[in-house]
Amino acid sequence: MPKELIFAVEDELHIQQLIKYNLESAGYRVFTFESGESLLKEVKNTIPDLFILDIMLPGIDGLEICRQLRQNPRTKTVPVIMLTAKSEEFDKVLGLELGADDYMTKPFSVRELVARVKAMFRRMTNAAPTESEIITFGDITIDCTRREVTKGETLLELPLKEFELLKLLILNKGKVLSRDLLLEKIWGFDYYGETRTVDVHIRYLRQKIEDDDSNPVYIETIRGIGYRFNDKGAK
Ligand code: CA
Repeated sequence: MPKELIFAVEDELHIQQLIKYNLESAGYRVFTFESGESLLKEVKNTIPDLFILDIMLPGIDGLEICRQLRQNPRTKTVPVIMLTAKSEEFDKVLGLELGADDYMTKPFSVRELVARVKAMFRRMTNAAPTESEIITFGDITIDCTRREVTKGETLLELPLKEFELLKLLILNKGKVLSRDLLLEKIWGFDYYGETRTVDVHIRYLRQKIEDDDSNPVYIETIRGIGYRFNDKGAK
């Protein structure tokens, strides 16, 4: 089986080498880039299995790279992990238009980065085969094979994690799922993130699937516990 290919852009050479060395030791193939321009140029020839994007770069920054990758049909579903300098960038990074799948705040532990990468690939492997099913609920349809979600006639652009989250909630409709459980199932057991990650993704998911996201019908908040996909459907 060919090893998964990772493209990482990072202008600080010692961090770049650290990323490359540790991910290669973990069995991945890693191409590193010092600028977004060089990464985007290479993407015209080769599509990797995962991107790691530093935000602060000379030239175009990681946010703009992510935006461009999401607009490109060939890269729009490839997972993206962002490296951010400040935790305030959290919302922006996981945000609607950007759709990164995960982020790490600098300084970060390389061991943790490797764990996140592994968790990401594990999710993809688990999600990919055998699920030829189409799940429908109310005006929402999830096509697991094509990894597409439609609301009515509208095709929704859902990043990987939002897709997984919606699928898990619908498959367990009527049941309360705790934030910890969602974090473990969607981000992997060795994900050291906070449960706030779940809340942020739920917020973005609601903006896409609810008619009025300030008055959600599909995804209910169960105070102090987590979330439930309402099996009674639209009111
Ligand atoms: Ca940098």
